Amino acid sequence: MKLEALPRRRYTPHPTPIQKLDRLSKHLGGPQIWIKRDDLTGLAGGGNKTRKLEFLVADALRQGADTLVTVGAVQSNHCRLTLAAAAHEGLKCRLVLEQRVPGSYRKEASGNNFLFDLLGAETLTVLEGGSDLSGAMQAEAEKLKSLGRKGYVIPGGGSNALGAMGYVVCAREILAQCLDMGLAFDEIVVASGSAGTHAGLLVGFNAANAGVPLTGLNVRRPRAEQEGNVHKLAVEAAAFAGLPAPSRDSVVAFDDWVGPGYSIPTDEMVEAVRLFASLEGVLLDPVYTGKAAAGLIGLARRDHFKPDANVLFVHTGGAPSLFAYQDILAS
Ligand SMILES: *Cc1c(COP(=O)(O)O)cnc(C)c1O
Repeated sequence: MKLEALPRRRYTPHPTPIQKLDRLSKHLGGPQIWIKRDDLTGLAGGGNKTRKLEFLVADALRQGADTLVTVGAVQSNHCRLTLAAAAHEGLKCRLVLEQRVPGSYRKEASGNNFLFDLLGAETLTVLEGGSDLSGAMQAEAEKLKSLGRKGYVIPGGGSNALGAMGYVVCAREILAQCLDMGLAFDEIVVASGSAGTHAGLLVGFNAANAGVPLTGLNVRRPRAEQEGNVHKLAVEAAAFAGLPAPSRDSVVAFDDWVGPGYSIPTDEMVEAVRLFASLEGVLLDPVYTGKAAAGLIGLARRDHFKPDANVLFVHTGGAPSLFAYQDILAS
């Protein structure tokens, strides 16, 4: 279906800004680093899931659902934003939480976990890592059905073809801003997790023939596995929107800054979070953008970019989880 004709709710009343990070660029001795402020999207605390939810929640409403059901890690930004969208739309929301790090769920934890309660999660089901998550969400939808209600299941990170449309839209928004600013980026860098953001951007840039390389920075999986996931979703999303499918070799997702595993802190992440905060007044997060920015800084130090290249870092949000990592991030 054509993107323009898809049902969509609007949660951000403006394009998110593109800003130059002069002090960080100078500190690193190049490249010229710019930032796309998708941490300033709408809904509680903002972040990339807001764009996906514009399409997913519109579909839920069209289907007459009264409850959103979704899944995430114990500090999931996606779960926070799905709850916020549900509250805003007058829907209920049930969460399935996966302990990707064994024993990582703590009922009293701060950050997003506190917001799950504040934003009114109807139920929270905490499972061990590697559990059958889609099975658990289906079971939740069945339970709702037996109560005469109607659930709408949103996959982890909102990353299916429909959710990825949010980032096809973002790619178009970035290209329109480039035209407006008279600025062509040499490379665009983004965190790559459940893959909807990376895949959507890739489809959007590819369809516009933008000719700008998109570099993913993996936060969880080995490179080949992640690149396969991104490519598969990009092919599905392109087919869904009637756009050309990106080639496999246009998918790049470095795994050098994942560290010991998903959400486990690294020294490079701590450095990146502290640099962005102290030099630019920009808050990153420990799980996604902190590691992606560590990758951006690492690539700059490896001379991956030309010193005068214009590089755009897509800030996908996540700052509320800083408060669950205070012991690691404080000086
Ligand atoms: C979910 C998330 C990502 C990763 O996006 P995907 O679409 O899941 O790949 C990046 N940054 C933040 C802050 C996130 O919450």
